[in-house]
Amino acid sequence: MDGTDGPFAGPVGRGPSTCENRGTMSDAPSSRPAPGQLTLVAPRRGKPPRHLADLTVEERREAVAALGHPAFRANQLSTHYFERLVDSPEQMTDLPQAVRDDLVADLLPPLLGPVRSITADEGATVKQVWRLFDGALVESVLMRYPNRVTVCISSQAGCGMNCPFCATGQEGLTRNMSTGEIVEQVVAAARMLRHGGLPEARGLDGGAGLGDEAEGSDEPAVRGPARVSNVVFMGMGEALANYKAAIGAIRRLTEPAPSGLGISARGITMSTVGLVPGIDRLAAEGIPVTLALSLHAPDDELRDELVPINTRFKVDEAIDAAHRYYETTGRRVSIEYALIRDINDQAWRADLLGEKLAARGRGWVHVNPIPLNPTPGSKWTASRRGVEQQFVERLRAHGIPTTVRDTRGSEIDGACGQLAASTA
Ligand code: SAH
Repeated sequence: MDGTDGPFAGPVGRGPSTCENRGTMSDAPSSRPAPGQLTLVAPRRGKPPRHLADLTVEERREAVAALGHPAFRANQLSTHYFERLVDSPEQMTDLPQAVRDDLVADLLPPLLGPVRSITADEGATVKQVWRLFDGALVESVLMRYPNRVTVCISSQAGCGMNCPFCATGQEGLTRNMSTGEIVEQVVAAARMLRHGGLPEARGLDGGAGLGDEAEGSDEPAVRGPARVSNVVFMGMGEALANYKAAIGAIRRLTEPAPSGLGISARGITMSTVGLVPGIDRLAAEGIPVTLALSLHAPDDELRDELVPINTRFKVDEAIDAAHRYYETTGRRVSIEYALIRDINDQAWRADLLGEKLAARGRGWVHVNPIPLNPTPGSKWTASRRGVEQQFVERLRAHGIPTTVRDTRGSEIDGACGQLAASTA
């Protein structure tokens, strides 16, 4: 399946956050999707240039050999890119000049052109807007917390999932991103950190933040020069609808250096509208990334409207798939629930959600309510604080661990559903 949905969940405030990325493409689809209309197959467009990060270690050796160089050069190039975070020939002094130029020209083409970079939260949050080779715009958000650094990345330009509360969803799907394009967002963030481009976060960690799903991460407290500890697929796009590229990116992110970036799988969160076959396929990969299911309603009647893929995969099927994911991987699943005033925040819905989750067992799931970040022109707004609190308490009464996710980045449209909207 090839669809997309594009919220970029980035934390901003009290707890973990979501960043929804909304892609405003310069070359956007000619018309917005009609309400409820799904785009499951991405439009075919020109392919981004091939990049080292698209390739397995073996494919890199073959590619280097095909250029007439000894295969071990592939390893040197990987060390430059994944370990030293370098992609300019001038810095590859262990390689003969002609070899560098050749390898870089062929295997390290520029994939992300910086458009702009906006800072919030006293510098601890940076939103970056990128132009892809064909003019499509995507966004990523880098968030520094006292004990971790999370990058929220896009997996598609636009999104085909058409969730009506999500800015990206309203724009429709332009195209799938390549593995290289997905990985480059993390490499760019890692580079910025290494060069001291993001100050230490002080006192910003009021609640659950993006990447918190990865509880038990053994990363040390972040001090001084930091590394990326967490990556969340909560930017633009439905990554499971761009499965091959997304799993390729997960492999590059988790492979130890110099083959990949060496990020712990536990620090990676795959967020999905609930593409059941994709969830099962991911479970079978043997890479224990954290799964986040964007549920937003516990009943089919409302979820059909809020998350249109629900017309294909119902609430119970999505929850069952999430539970199977837990059973297969041992990773506790997150349920994302954007709280929308008077739409999905009623006490009875909290009870229904709590019952459905508790019925499948204990300890397998936690819920992250997210205050709705209203998109421009939206008729919806966030739940009242008291209602939000009651929703949380009801879930807890059912024995379901629940943490309101913070909304870091909202002041720079770096939070849920906002990312690309302001970039047009
Ligand atoms: N396609 C993936 C990634 C979406 S972004 C998915 O649907 O899970 C991450 C989260 O942000 C999702 O749970 C999404 O529903 C949520 N989100 C999108 N727009 C939002 C908004 N305006 N306010 C709050 N959360 C939003």
